[in-house]
Amino acid sequence: VIRRYLDATSLHKTINRVELRCEQLIQGVTSREFREALAGQSFVSTRRHGKWLFAELDSHILLILHFGMTGRLVYFRDLEKDPDHDRMLLAFDNGYQLAYDSVRRLGSISLTESVGQWLEEKDLGPDALNSSLSTDGFRRLLTGRRGMIKPALMNQKIIAGIGNAYSDEILFQAGIHPRTSASELDEDRLDELHATMKEVLQVAIDHQADPARLPDDFILKHRRKDGHCPVCGTDLMRVKVSGRTAYICPNRQPDPE
Ligand SMILES: [Zn+2]
Repeated sequence: VIRRYLDATSLHKTINRVELRCEQLIQGVTSREFREALAGQSFVSTRRHGKWLFAELDSHILLILHFGMTGRLVYFRDLEKDPDHDRMLLAFDNGYQLAYDSVRRLGSISLTESVGQWLEEKDLGPDALNSSLSTDGFRRLLTGRRGMIKPALMNQKIIAGIGNAYSDEILFQAGIHPRTSASELDEDRLDELHATMKEVLQVAIDHQADPARLPDDFILKHRRKDGHCPVCGTDLMRVKVSGRTAYICPNRQPDPE
């Protein structure tokens, strides 16, 4: 969703000025190197892998943005629209600016010369929505894996792109309890899970990942302490799985034990 926003607002515009308002967010390069790499450049294309957004500059260096839980981009002209929590600001030669805004400083900003090499160094798994992740490939990633299915889905080194809330949604839609052992899911269940994962993520992107716009039968819209299952009305249950809180419908997602 953020990638689409950057594409729609900020491609092919010369960056006049780079302001860093939270230097701790910059990783792997000094602030000075960072400013020098961006100044006078423009973004020519973008791509995404998991939760990372890559924006390529004329120089072929890529800006890498990670948004944490609350990060976003804001493109604006009037200074009064300057977001409160922005940590990085790029001013373009058309008078507009692009702010990287983050209430909590959980994101990161860095640079790379090669996405492939960067992904390898990070040891990231394939992107959950990339068409090159086939049903067979998905099966191979999870077949015989020890441990529970929810943390496996959230492990960026297995599959990149799924966080806590969306792993709940995928498992709810697939009717699988988050504590189910990955190795207990047979081929058919894994194939179904793969199809459900792709569908949930695509529907989310198509609705700007905005909970208010998601379909009513998504658990994400009801994922709170007093929430009810949007399908059967049962009280949602909260269960701890590997230190994270999962929301389930006990009716649709029976406990494996
Ligand atoms: Zn239910």
